[in-house]
Amino acid sequence: MRKLNTLIIGSGAAGLAAAVRLHAQKVENIAIYTEGLKMGTSINTGSDKQTYYKLGMYGTEGDSPCMMAKDLSAGGSVHGDLALVEASLSPLAFHHLVSLGVPFPHDVYGQYAGYKTDHDPKRRATSCGPYTSRDMCRSLIDDVLRRGICVEEHRLCYKLLTDKENTRAIGAIFLNMETGDWEIVKAENVIFATGGPGGLYAASVYPKVHTGGIGIGLEAGAKAYNLAESQFGLASIKFRWNVSGSYMQVLPRFVSTDQDGKDEREFLREYFATPAEMYDAIFLKGYQWPFSAGHVPGSSLIDIFTYIETVERGRRVWLDYRSDPADLEFSALNDETRTYLERSGAWEATPLKRLELLNAPAIELYRRYGIPLDKEMLEIAVCAQHNNGGLAGNIWWESVNLKHLFPIGEVNGSHGVTRPGGSALNAGQVGAFRSSEFIAAKYQEDTFSDEAFEEIAAEEMKQIQAMQSVPAQLDWKQERLTLQQRMSKAGAFVRSFANVEAALNGVYKQYDALTADGFGGLTPKALTDALRNRQLCYAQIFYLECILMQIEYIGSRGGSMVLCDDGRAIHPLLAEKWKVQEEKKEMREYVMVCGKGENGKPSIGWEKCRPVPECDGWFENIWREFRTGDVYNNDVTHE
Ligand SMILES: Cc1cc2nc3c(=O)[nH]c(=O)nc-3n(C[C@H](O)[C@H](O)[C@H](O)COP(=O)(O)OP(=O)(O)OC[C@H]3O[C@@H](n4cnc5c(N)ncnc54)[C@H](O)[C@@H]3O)c2cc1C
Repeated sequence: MRKLNTLIIGSGAAGLAAAVRLHAQKVENIAIYTEGLKMGTSINTGSDKQTYYKLGMYGTEGDSPCMMAKDLSAGGSVHGDLALVEASLSPLAFHHLVSLGVPFPHDVYGQYAGYKTDHDPKRRATSCGPYTSRDMCRSLIDDVLRRGICVEEHRLCYKLLTDKENTRAIGAIFLNMETGDWEIVKAENVIFATGGPGGLYAASVYPKVHTGGIGIGLEAGAKAYNLAESQFGLASIKFRWNVSGSYMQVLPRFVSTDQDGKDEREFLREYFATPAEMYDAIFLKGYQWPFSAGHVPGSSLIDIFTYIETVERGRRVWLDYRSDPADLEFSALNDETRTYLERSGAWEATPLKRLELLNAPAIELYRRYGIPLDKEMLEIAVCAQHNNGGLAGNIWWESVNLKHLFPIGEVNGSHGVTRPGGSALNAGQVGAFRSSEFIAAKYQEDTFSDEAFEEIAAEEMKQIQAMQSVPAQLDWKQERLTLQQRMSKAGAFVRSFANVEAALNGVYKQYDALTADGFGGLTPKALTDALRNRQLCYAQIFYLECILMQIEYIGSRGGSMVLCDDGRAIHPLLAEKWKVQEEKKEMREYVMVCGKGENGKPSIGWEKCRPVPECDGWFENIWREFRTGDVYNNDVTHE
């Protein structure tokens, strides 16, 4: 058993930043426990131009934390005070990254220019290129190592430990993924930075190595916000990458085949009156990348048609960049599409040549990962990309109901129905700043007795030992596939009450089977994945229950649409069932809260959104509160 002041679980951009900030504030006795420094989403993912969202700081364009907070919360179902903290800390967190060497571009005067991203009325977005989050991780890892912060790799968190009354975190139990040994850590504070629920879906653009760990937090009893709000979009699946922006704007052929790659068909054609109309829709999909209920009808129909082909018809969908069909006439395209291609000089004879002109590195990227776009087609699907919801934190990113637990990064659910692109990376850094500052100011003492801890840990170890004496029966790979396929069918962007109900029926049964199965006879690798399945399955129960609640009380919004018999028809050529349930807009004034109920099952309710605070900003008062430390006592979240 090891004793720490602060245990950081996870080494993505958020966890690493938290470790660095704790160390900078002289919090001693900290350690990062992680599956690995090369695991997680941040270091393994990217996109066309991976975005970081921060306060505007260029030229004469005015911006302020309040203005940014209003934009962060404009999509609804967001607490305004959390948005204000994210906005206020964004310049600090951003400059911290710059000071560590993350190559964000600036002009000759040192101004960090920005561009507009989705849901962004200003030009607050910036980027280092396709691999912003990887650049962040690399600089943060360098700093973690320079500071000599302890990093324990190949550790899988199995359980978060809480006191008997379930009011606070006290540590965690880990599996050593290489040796199969168990390790117990007592910690005054736990910063929980295990990322988004990547392992929940079969169709996913989260890196394959990333499963996430939110189920562990939910099992410990931490409440969550907005679990039903996620983001989905078209992505390649052999190498996982969003096919947004220029991948669409060069107008590739959308082709479907049977499972063996035969019986090729340009399946989009059946839905459009003319080829030009189809190409205009494909072009628009480029910059309206994620599926949005607000773009149905509109560019999101492309996601729906792809879903029908893959999920309902059981075919495979591909983008073909090698040739244009004979009937593509540039003169027939609408003004927007034509002007863009004309002004970019991209009139070349094939989508690939146009892509070479617009964005040559986009071709190189696939070549590097063994997919030469001049020789083969690119297989795609509508994939899960981000969870706007997650564990619920207060303005210091401390769990709203478990003290000393700080969920930060994507596992924290501070976002609402929509979010400006890049605000996920910002929120992770802000969470790291806030949690570490609060811990440094308030939580450096050891306040939980060793004896009480040992008693709780011993009880848990007894249960683990009991499981180890029961031989494992289930095949983790099959179980993972079952749970992922269930989620992609019922809990992705196309939802219906009947489907979710059926999925819930399945997931409860699967969870019972998984928890009854033993650990006996498993290799460390197989045990690691069996444990991942348990927490993923538990998380799936929560996600699906929240989705069911969302269907009942809200309807279609944000990244998902709900089908219902008496809904609005969305396309004349789609089957009868494709009618969408309209959104109850007033529900954007509420955040959905979900926690472990008395029987261990999810209990769901609503919190009225707190507005963006109006602050008086009187310096002397702020200075006094800061000097006396009152600033840390003022829990405005629960006034
Ligand atoms: C394709 C794609 C493109 C994206 N583009 C953008 C963008 O442009 N802008 C933006 O803001 N966001 C973007 N995002 C989202 C953003 O990248 C993530 O939200 C962010 O990187 C998550 O960082 P994190 O530190 O919270 O988690 P991660 O980077 O996922 O790290 C989680 C860490 O926890 C560890 N871990 C997990 N479970 C356990 C466990 N049980 N025990 C021990 N360790 C564990 C993992 O190994 C890892 O070290 C994108 C995401 C994807 C998939």
